[in-house]
Amino acid sequence: MAPVDACPQDGAGALSVEMLSRFAGPCPRYTSYPTADRFLPLEAGNSPAEPWRALRGSTSLSLYVHIPFCRSLCYFCACNKVITQQYGLVSSYIDRLLEEAHWYRDKVADLPVIQLHLGGGTPTFLTDADLRRLVSGLAEVFNLHPPGQVEYSVEADPRTLDPETLETLRELGFNRLSMGVQDFDPRVQQAINRVCDERSVANLTQAARACGFGSISYDLVYGLPHQSADTMRATVKKVLQLAPDRIALYHYAHLPARFKAQRLIDSDAMPSAQEKITMQLAALEELGAAGYQFLGMDHFALPHDELALAAREGRLRRNFQGYTLMPADALIGLGASAISYSADGYWQNHHRLKDYVERIRACGSAAYRGWTLSEDDRLRQHLVMELMCRMRLDKSDLADRAGGPFEKRFAEELRRLQPMFDCGLLRQDADSLYLTEEGRWFARNAASAFDSYLHSEADTGRYSRVL
Ligand code: SF4
Repeated sequence: MAPVDACPQDGAGALSVEMLSRFAGPCPRYTSYPTADRFLPLEAGNSPAEPWRALRGSTSLSLYVHIPFCRSLCYFCACNKVITQQYGLVSSYIDRLLEEAHWYRDKVADLPVIQLHLGGGTPTFLTDADLRRLVSGLAEVFNLHPPGQVEYSVEADPRTLDPETLETLRELGFNRLSMGVQDFDPRVQQAINRVCDERSVANLTQAARACGFGSISYDLVYGLPHQSADTMRATVKKVLQLAPDRIALYHYAHLPARFKAQRLIDSDAMPSAQEKITMQLAALEELGAAGYQFLGMDHFALPHDELALAAREGRLRRNFQGYTLMPADALIGLGASAISYSADGYWQNHHRLKDYVERIRACGSAAYRGWTLSEDDRLRQHLVMELMCRMRLDKSDLADRAGGPFEKRFAEELRRLQPMFDCGLLRQDADSLYLTEEGRWFARNAASAFDSYLHSEADTGRYSRVL
């Protein structure tokens, strides 16, 4: 967490320009602890030789399948993707995915799969026939629970989605749809090379509801070229008319030195840091006025949504795909760059398509780096999860886990958190430490105070902003 030495004079405890300026700097997103950028080559240092061995001791499983292909390049994109028009490449990639699935067959036995997530890239790049081939191939290996009892979610690009594919996805059991909307402003869309009219999104939303998707989510992005508080407000108002169950409002980090695609964005069109904050506040105001409940990080849901209900009841959990209701105790990630975990730790596949394909052909697995969890990692993993999901820490529970009083074990961390206490973002009493209403926006900051790797070196430049 960036050091902060004084509170805003006015509005302390309220989400304000001052608060965002002080606390919303770069910080890990904590989809895992330790974060994936700490992973080491397999069999080197603190990396497990065969991390998947602990899969057998698990009781439930999540599956993530990475489809890296996209038809055209969105200039803001920092995802692991392959831009192609050649479908042959895609078809052979599915063959490799299924080979990788088979490699896990004897390692997972009959573990029930309670979540399946297709992410990308663009999962809806696949033809309906290949979507069927993929899911039926997975069902040959894994114990996929009957549709309706599990979360089957898919990320979709509205530019490559049609009502027929939605029907196919529903037939295959998918019940959650996430669409990358980003922004409805034509000038912004041109600047990021992602033109998609509102009517298509509206029609697809209607079609998804008609065929029974239980939850529809939109991704929005602020901080893009040509955006302002006014354009952001206008986009959010249009989105609200379509009433998606969930909304993710992501910050765009412009890092052209790191991501080649972003060099295609005119830097003169980029909003200033101050403008980003005002557009963010405008979006939050609109979402709040429309009744969306803040879940945590950059996620919102209508009060009827089961994630919103789970958040109110303290049942929300978090995994690599974000907030969830059904945390499995192990995850298998299939495909280029996919991450897996079990009770012992994490392992990740090669990022580059070529490396992934070669490794699968050679030995059935493309895992190349990972992390073995120490006892201290497990304690902090639990603590980070509690802060990100429940927004509070139970001191006696942590004292039991840590084998000593919370205040003593985490004295250094509490010192790092002092600015958040001073500004009314955090409070504590004898039983617990908790984020206040305003502090809930800054759960990442609070979690980062407990990240022993982050504080072992002065390097926070690799992470995205908090808000
Ligand atoms: S934003 Fe999505 S569709 Fe666009 S290039 Fe990136 S992964 Fe592909």
